[in-house]
Amino acid sequence: MRKNIVAGNWKMNKNLQEGLDLVKDLQTALFSKKVKCDVVVCTPFIHLGAVNGMIDKTKVKLGAQNCADKVSGAYTGEISAEMVASTGAKYVILGHSERRAYYGETNDMLKEKVQLALANNLTPIFCIGEVLGEREAGQQNTVVKKQIEEGLFALSAEDFGKIVLAYEPVWAIGTGKTATSDQAQEMHAFIRQTVAAKYGQAVADATSILYGGSCNAANAKELFANPDVDGGLIGGASLKVDTFMPIVEAF
Ligand code: PEP
Repeated sequence: MRKNIVAGNWKMNKNLQEGLDLVKDLQTALFSKKVKCDVVVCTPFIHLGAVNGMIDKTKVKLGAQNCADKVSGAYTGEISAEMVASTGAKYVILGHSERRAYYGETNDMLKEKVQLALANNLTPIFCIGEVLGEREAGQQNTVVKKQIEEGLFALSAEDFGKIVLAYEPVWAIGTGKTATSDQAQEMHAFIRQTVAAKYGQAVADATSILYGGSCNAANAKELFANPDVDGGLIGGASLKVDTFMPIVEAF
């Protein structure tokens, strides 16, 4: 009913040639396996056009890691949703905690980005998640609910149906400290309930909710076995075929 997805977030890693080599090797590995999920690679902007030209889209889908909150114009250094779409990319990560923390992205800005992404037929992978202090204070549900409400709940049910969510507890990103399988399931179920309360159970049941945060070959199977965990957004482990493929194969 809903898609299982494993998406790699390369962040600011790999020059163009290294990126092309990685995709080539990943695709070769995918051709020799029967994979039970969609595989997405979210590359730096400058790789998108070239990667799009080399992928077999039945095996690998392409995404960006961000897009601008403006349509076009005098915004030096920015990349619009339309530009991303023109490369052939189909996904865009929005609201990653690193964008929120280091580049001041607010829920209001993200709301604009989501609308522009959808207007350009991109599927947003919308990231939500609490920082350590918020988890320790037991505020994780309140924080995540607010991010969803402010970033996404202006959407119609039809448009919400095009969103992929990624729960990424910030304390687990790049730290080697994964949420336990129970913590992940508990939050994913809460997220699904939150969506159901706004848009109805059918929309909630059709929404893919990925887990992100130090997901790796050793923990992916247990995490993905949870009923409300529909895949992963993978940072560090997506940079090598040897560490990414076992996560893809965890389904
Ligand atoms: C991420 O940045 O989305 C992420 C989950 O990173 P890592 O897998 O390295 O924790």
